[in-house]
Amino acid sequence: MDPIELLRRLLAPAGPGELLWPGARLEGFSAEVGLRLRLTVAEEPLWIDLTPLAASDRWAARTEHFGLSYRTEGERRAIAPAEGQAICRRLALMIRAREGELFVALRKNRGDEEAGGGDAGRVRRIEVASILEPGGSKARPFYTVSPYVGCTIGCRFCYADRQLAPLRGLMGLPQARWGSYVDLRENAPEVLARELRASTPAPIKFCPIVSDPYQAIEAQALLTRRCLEVIAAAPAVWPTMLLTRSTLILRDLDVFKEMPRVAVGVSLPTIDEAARRHFEPRAASVAERLRVLRALRAAGIPTLAVVQPLLPGSIEGLAAALAELADSVSVDVLRGEGGAREDFEDLRYARCRGEAWQAAAAAELAALLRARGVPVWRGELPPSLAGAAMIDAAT
Ligand code: SF4
Repeated sequence: MDPIELLRRLLAPAGPGELLWPGARLEGFSAEVGLRLRLTVAEEPLWIDLTPLAASDRWAARTEHFGLSYRTEGERRAIAPAEGQAICRRLALMIRAREGELFVALRKNRGDEEAGGGDAGRVRRIEVASILEPGGSKARPFYTVSPYVGCTIGCRFCYADRQLAPLRGLMGLPQARWGSYVDLRENAPEVLARELRASTPAPIKFCPIVSDPYQAIEAQALLTRRCLEVIAAAPAVWPTMLLTRSTLILRDLDVFKEMPRVAVGVSLPTIDEAARRHFEPRAASVAERLRVLRALRAAGIPTLAVVQPLLPGSIEGLAAALAELADSVSVDVLRGEGGAREDFEDLRYARCRGEAWQAAAAAELAALLRARGVPVWRGELPPSLAGAAMIDAAT
């Protein structure tokens, strides 16, 4: 079962657009950064996170399997703790009524699949009810699209694993090492076509937190490519951003050229190939990622790069390489070591895990890029898709 479908069943019979109780409407579901409900309460947006209890140490209310917490985004007024807790408690009551039966059924289905010679959960082909996930705020909305969940590139500092591992456990899937499993959302292109017809245009990001859109299986599955073809053929303009650590993205140059507003690029945390190999052994090499940027630029496609986290290597060299090939660069620091604790314990790399090192390296890189006339941004979208207001001068 897809995580969005799990949320749908936990809240059934209420669905997106319906009132949960007077003054509280369920707007939709998201699984990009864990399980999340989008609500409007008293005309204000509010997000509720459902964290599997095994991964949750703080919550406002809990059910048998989840801790519920609330968060505000963007321009919403702050919410009083008592109000947030009351909303979570009310939702917890609704979820408790359904979760027991639902998880028993899920585990039974999983057992049946395995008894029937299943795939041990490593490559699952699933169908989804929705693929366009709203993000951002009212003033700066965007969508994310993830044709895959899970990522076989398997960078060890990737924090997607923190979200997905407890969820797999809840759904009765075997625990698997990060990088060894992926779900294919097989009907993603068809669902996207339907959702684009019914939605208000806003930027779309294919740089999801839970997968790389050009991981190896995309070479056969073509889900990312077919989703891009849907966007290119849509009557409205949907500005689109793509980000990868794979050279497979160059296969789709022809589609990018058909898209009216697009920005395409690579994640590149270091210019040092030894450090790259140490932390991202299954991703494209530094030289290959620079080749991707060069080919995109030669084809006339607007380019971008994302540097997060910063890894050891010449900051001057990284700035020089990116300034030559990227129209803009996002720079951000390490946000948790993920499964890379041992990698950072290597004496060659230990110093770069510290907040002070990360902040200093980010500031140095941003200054060097700006000195070369390259816009530096932080946030969700490059300036070419979001407007110059997104450039973060404080980086
Ligand atoms: S390529 Fe991205 S999504 Fe995949 S493992 Fe690395 S950081 Fe995570």
